[in-house]
Amino acid sequence: MNGIFDVIIIGAGTAGLAALREVKKRTENFILINDGPWGTVCARVGCMPSKTLIEAANAFHRRNTFEEFGIRGAGSLTLDIAAVLRRVRRLRDRFVASTLKTTDALGERAISGRARLLGVGRLEVNGKELRARHIIIATGSRPIVPAPWRAFGDKLLTSDTLFEQETLPSRMAVIGLGPIGIEMAQALSRLGVNVVGFGERSTIAGLSDPHVNTVATDLLKHEFPLYLGEKADLDVVDGRMQVRTEAKGAVVDSVLVSLGRQPNIDSLGLETLGIELDARGLPPVHPLTMQVADLPVFMAGDINDHTPLLHEAADDGHIAGINATRTTPACFPRRTPLAIVFGDPGIATVGRRFNSLDGDKMLTGEVQFKHQGRAVAGQRNKGILRLYAEPESGRLLGAEMCSPAAEHMAHLLALAMERSLTVHDMLRLPFYHPVLEEGLRTALRDLSRQLPRCSESDLAGCEAFGTEALD
Ligand SMILES: Cc1cc2nc3c(=O)[nH]c(=O)nc-3n(C[C@H](O)[C@H](O)[C@H](O)COP(=O)(O)OP(=O)(O)OC[C@H]3O[C@@H](n4cnc5c(N)ncnc54)[C@H](O)[C@@H]3O)c2cc1C
Repeated sequence: MNGIFDVIIIGAGTAGLAALREVKKRTENFILINDGPWGTVCARVGCMPSKTLIEAANAFHRRNTFEEFGIRGAGSLTLDIAAVLRRVRRLRDRFVASTLKTTDALGERAISGRARLLGVGRLEVNGKELRARHIIIATGSRPIVPAPWRAFGDKLLTSDTLFEQETLPSRMAVIGLGPIGIEMAQALSRLGVNVVGFGERSTIAGLSDPHVNTVATDLLKHEFPLYLGEKADLDVVDGRMQVRTEAKGAVVDSVLVSLGRQPNIDSLGLETLGIELDARGLPPVHPLTMQVADLPVFMAGDINDHTPLLHEAADDGHIAGINATRTTPACFPRRTPLAIVFGDPGIATVGRRFNSLDGDKMLTGEVQFKHQGRAVAGQRNKGILRLYAEPESGRLLGAEMCSPAAEHMAHLLALAMERSLTVHDMLRLPFYHPVLEEGLRTALRDLSRQLPRCSESDLAGCEAFGTEALD
């Protein structure tokens, strides 16, 4: 392995593998370096095991609706938590195995080891210096754990260790109520753990619309206590963990720390690139090319700290892979922002977030699901969906929701926003009956009433029937 590679990719996560797919189409002269386990964070300890745990928790939680449906005997259902966790790991292994097929096939072009940059076009791995015309850095991120808390050892869990547990303790605190914290806190609570949630901010799960946030927090508070707006600190008391804020406290068996994730830049040698780094130690990365400053270096995925989500990491990787094999980098337009939190009801933000919009220059439309026909039929009649639109054109700008079928509503709205559809454009599209999407239509009609009236023949002009069964 001497000479200069066309491309070296550092990190075999989602972004690195997406980059690899593009690079492989254009050159054979590349290598991929990965430190630690192969198989991507998404499959090993991220999206997939978390959703597998959530599915089990929600399946068990459904028993609380059985009596009302007329299904008897729910009270005698029990949970084998060890079996739930074994299933999480079994499926996790399957998801990991499918990502390994790509990297195993690379043979000696896949190197295990920690890469450290030595300058532009130079790096060191396993004691050897390697050179490349282009370098793609896709080293991902890891959970933030404040240094003093590391002394608490295995009483502290993160998403890196949670799914490895053989069983779960009876009392847990979840500190940090962003997307991952909310998903895990609700799942653990539904799996029978006495959960207490602590969040430093007053908003949860990445929401910014105070109306949606209030509905989401109120719904969750019916399942487990949530203490918001204060920083929590930790201590060990009589062998148990004590969580404290100014006003509240809880003694628990262990703590899930979900304070967000930090880019993996330690000892990566970014300072050798000769460009200015920001306060976090990150270089400037162009969001449409993934290029680092004007260097033949690209940064893709969680490492660049733009939008730490899987589909964005994959897009970053594709862009970096293409641009690392071109003489001049091309700009790629990015997709409509979309973020989903797999709570129940689901939580999602699409397009522009509420707090990024000027209240005077937008209209809001809303639906509450309490009386929505299909939601009532399925005992899923909880939540709210709010839409934001431009007053002159009626173009949809964004949405935030905590609602039944949020993941599907959010996709529908993202498609509409990506195509710059207006409220009236959307109302002209078919809505079947009876479906939860009729709730979305109610919010669109709410906006439509505030917009200049469109032509008589516009079906959107039809008023709602005003009855639970028909709207
Ligand atoms: C619990 C959890 C749930 C999530 N759920 C969702 C979800 O539902 N939907 C969603 O969109 N996103 C979700 N995410 C986020 C998503 O998983 C990440 O955005 C995505 O995995 C990031 O991929 P990546 O390629 O940037 O990094 P990674 O997959 O972390 O890959 C980086 C790789 O680089 C390696 N590396 C690090 N440093 C070096 C070095 N110096 N040399 C060589 N290799 C190195 C790492 O070991 C790793 O293998 C979730 C994350 C977590 C933790």
